[in-house]
Formats: sequence, structure tokens, C-alpha cells
Amino acid sequence: MFWFLFFIFGTIWGSFLNVVIFRLNKRKSIFFGRSFCPKCKHKLFWYDLIPLLSFIILGGKCRYCKKKISWQYFFVEFATGTLFALVAFLNLKDFSLVEVLNLVKLLYFTCVFIVIFVYDLRYYIIPDKIIIWGIAVAFSLNIAFHAIEQNCYSIALDLISSVLCALFFFLLFYLSKGKWIGGGDFKLVLFMGLVLGWPYILIALLVAINTGALVGILLILLGKKTMKSEIPFGTFLSAAAVFVMLFGERILGWYLGVFSL
Ligand SMILES: [Zn+2]
Repeated sequence: MFWFLFFIFGTIWGSFLNVVIFRLNKRKSIFFGRSFCPKCKHKLFWYDLIPLLSFIILGGKCRYCKKKISWQYFFVEFATGTLFALVAFLNLKDFSLVEVLNLVKLLYFTCVFIVIFVYDLRYYIIPDKIIIWGIAVAFSLNIAFHAIEQNCYSIALDLISSVLCALFFFLLFYLSKGKWIGGGDFKLVLFMGLVLGWPYILIALLVAINTGALVGILLILLGKKTMKSEIPFGTFLSAAAVFVMLFGERILGWYLGVFSL
């Protein structure tokens, strides 16, 4: 049952993430000011802001001006709820301090990936405010958690592999003058390396590049994009990172099992 509580908790966090995404784009303070309808500017009250339910009850329209509310709001609330429940279900074995701290860490990383997923998809940019903070927190936590485990070898491996992967993407960005990938992408790769560690960063990059290419080809075949269209690579990177964060150990185990036969 406890994972259902995490779903509810996640939907509430999701509505907060929607506010973060909206205000980052408008360059407004994330923590101050009341919520309002972006179309008619009418102030929203608590009963307009209940995660998932308000959207369903109002039929996806503003209560005051009846204009459509973006599906993004519903999607982010639902996705955050589902991912929070999954993260808790897969990672919380007991309620010891280390387990709970580890869970908080994973939930924070999940939120960063959700914001970047949506933001890059909508605006084709990865906000520095989010990614720089993410890198700083992931770096500090990496040091702290490895210090507890007293494992110098794995911390060096994680740090070096993160920097090397990020450097590779920085070179792609630099050599193509930003045409192949954006300036935010190599920072995101650094963040992913710190979050996932070795060899999971490699799996995530392979998943992101393959799904990105597949979706890109599909969209070109469907006539929705051309070869020159921009692809929000940060969206694919974020999705792959969450996927590997949740199932990386299982994927690696399966992969090694298949090839050791
Ligand atoms: Zn309105």
C-alpha cells in the first residue's frame, strides 16, 4: 500500500514541478507569487490546483475563461506520481536511515530529469539553473555516500567515466558549433554520470542515442520533421537516465547472463 502514498505524494510534487517549469520559462521567482491561469490571468484557488483531479473535473479547461489547459500539466503530475511510486517500490526495502536518505536522493534526481524532459521538449533548451544545481548536489552526494562505503576505487571510476562521457559530448557540441547537440547536453551527460555511475552511464547513453535516432527517423517518415529539424536530445537523455536508474541493474544482469552462456 505504501507505494500508493508515494503516487499521491508524487502527483503533488508534479504540480510543483509544473510551476517550476512555467516560472523558469517566464524568469519568475519559483517560490513567490500565486498561481494564475496563463490565458486569462485569473487567480487559481486550491480547488483548481488538486493534482490530476482538477484537470479531469474541469475537462482540461480553465474554470474561468474555459480555454484549454495544456496536457503538460496532467502528464507531469501523472508521470511524477508513477515514477515516485516505482522508485519507492523498487528501492525502499526497510525504513532505515540509509534507505530513506537514498530514496530522497533518487526522488530528487527523478524530479530533475522530469523537468529537463519537459523543458527541452517544449523549449529546446536545458535550463542552467536546474542542471548546475543537479551536478553540484549529485557530486556532493556521490562523495558523501562513497565515503560512508569507504570505496575509493568506485568513486574514482564514477567521476572519471562521467567526465570522459561529458567531454565526448562537449567535443561534439564544440566541433559542430552547436548544430548536432546543444550546450546543455554535455552538462546533462555529466549529471547522468554522477547519478548513474559506471557502467550504467554507458547503457543510458546507448538507450538515448538509439531511441532518439528511432523517433527521429519515424517523425521524418511521418513528415512531421525534416533532416534539419532540431531534436530535443535532452528529452531522450532524461528518459533513458530514469529508465536506467530504475532498471539498470536488472538490464545489466540480463545482458551479462545472455552473453555468458
Ligand atoms: Zn483562464
